[in-house]
Amino acid sequence: MYQLIDGKKISGEIKDELREKAAQMKARGVERCLAVIQVGSDPASGVYVRNKKKACEYIGIRSLSYELPEETGQEQLLDLIRELNQRSDVNGILVQLPLPGHIDEEKILLAIAPEKDVDGFHPVNVGNLSIGRPGYVSCTPAGVIQLLKRSGIKIEGRECVVLGRSNIVGKPMAMLLLRENGTVTVCHSRTRNLKDITRRADILVAAVGKPKFVNGDFVKEGAVVIDVGIHRDGEGKLCGDVDFDSVAPKVSAITPVPGGVGPMTIAMLMANCVEGADGTQ
Ligand code: NAP
Repeated sequence: MYQLIDGKKISGEIKDELREKAAQMKARGVERCLAVIQVGSDPASGVYVRNKKKACEYIGIRSLSYELPEETGQEQLLDLIRELNQRSDVNGILVQLPLPGHIDEEKILLAIAPEKDVDGFHPVNVGNLSIGRPGYVSCTPAGVIQLLKRSGIKIEGRECVVLGRSNIVGKPMAMLLLRENGTVTVCHSRTRNLKDITRRADILVAAVGKPKFVNGDFVKEGAVVIDVGIHRDGEGKLCGDVDFDSVAPKVSAITPVPGGVGPMTIAMLMANCVEGADGTQ
């Protein structure tokens, strides 16, 4: 029988811990403030932004909300980021992606001061992660590490395979597993003999962006499988990159979708806001 890794419960515990920390900080006169910027009215982004604001409220982080119209110019957005970079009462800046096509996403992310980049996307933070210096870490992969640790799953010395090499999930995931002393292999669309590699994994992280891509043939008996994917299947039901029904009977532990990695992303964003770049504040 497999262990179902409960992201809802674990993210709730993390949020409660952060709430307590934030209250202690407030008692010392330190208040955290996250600025959330959304350009346009993409409905999915709207849901994410609302959830982030709700989480801030729960934990006791002040949130500033900038809901800008679709036609906002790049310079206008850059001006706002520069202003927020300067403000001493703002310690986190988040620009909800995707941005409208006329805005250069990379330029915007580069403009955010690294010490306020709570998403962990700025090259300074990415570089810090890769050379083992303190810095903000991308929230989804950081959440996967918390899921493993808080479920009592050892990473050190184990074969870890990451399926996907995106800048926001796959690559930072690999760096974090390496930091935890896992032996890490990264697979992508040009990988040959994919199943031979994924079947070596003690811990398999699927971030491939394809619904139910990973089936029982991809995993060895007793592996731990973490599903980062979020999709809707033909019937409109949420599913992940992993075909849960075919994989679960073979594994020792697995995350469900929904209720696995998903809720961890916001919890880790909140951790970045409360704890700062080095996790010690
Ligand atoms: P992405 O940017 O589309 O990256 C997908 C990766 O999978 C790429 O590296 C790609 O390889 C690789 N890939 C695609 N087809 C493959 C194949 N047939 N065999 C092997 N590798 C293949 O996706 P992402 O942003 O990393 O997101 C991954 C999934 O996580 C998505 O379902 C997304 O919705 C979900 N997600 C969830 C959260 C959350 O909070 N839970 C957050 C972010 C993302 P190449 O590099 O060679 O193209």
